[in-house]
Amino acid sequence: MLLEEIKEGVADLLFPKTCFGCGKEGKYICDNCNVFLGESALICPVCDKLNFTGQKHLQCSTKYGLDGLVNIWEYEGITKAALHDIKYKGNFDIISEFIEKAFLVMRKDISRFESFLSFIFSKDVYIVYVPMYIKKEKRRGFNQSKIIARELEKITEKKTIDLLEKIKDTPSQTNLDREGRIKNVKDCFRILPNSTFLPKKVVLVDDLWQTGATLKECCEIIKTNGVEEVWGFTLFRQV
Ligand SMILES: [Zn+2]
Ligand SMILES: [Zn+2]
Repeated sequence: MLLEEIKEGVADLLFPKTCFGCGKEGKYICDNCNVFLGESALICPVCDKLNFTGQKHLQCSTKYGLDGLVNIWEYEGITKAALHDIKYKGNFDIISEFIEKAFLVMRKDISRFESFLSFIFSKDVYIVYVPMYIKKEKRRGFNQSKIIARELEKITEKKTIDLLEKIKDTPSQTNLDREGRIKNVKDCFRILPNSTFLPKKVVLVDDLWQTGATLKECCEIIKTNGVEEVWGFTLFRQV
């Protein structure tokens, strides 16, 4: 407990919390600015068209595709600024606030998030994050997807496991079109060679869904290796 308090104290000194919307001190997104976070509608992760609960459409069934997808907010304004701060200023302290807020969003809109929540809280679910190329992660000092996974772990009490490895350094997806992104991530990931345990059910975690190329690729790999059911979870979605 004491250690936690010291860590929090140090984080407050390094990154005094000020609101991304209005600059007020105390939180990264203050209660007044909450309204500027645009919640994103859920989509089918196979065809990208709207689907109320985020489950894949029945007709969109693919063997190695995602079974469902949850994104909480649209990637614009405050959320864009926040992800930029996380990635380029190392302010990953924001993530825990986003995860707490994410569960508040889900709780108040239970009919929309019921499918995801009953999946993540069901038996034998493990959390897996999208890995970074090891040198890139060392340079940055952290992998924000892994931190999102760990924060999810704290709330859901589902274990996060290291399952995937990124074996190629690829340029950022940002400036590529849809085709380019699919090519860019092809054959970039593999199951960690020393992994001894393969779960049946996985929540696959990343920071942002743009075209979904990365999550789809990771899902295909873990499913071809024997994982049976996979939901994707990202904080933000490019709309
Ligand atoms: Zn504010
Ligand atoms: Zn669909």
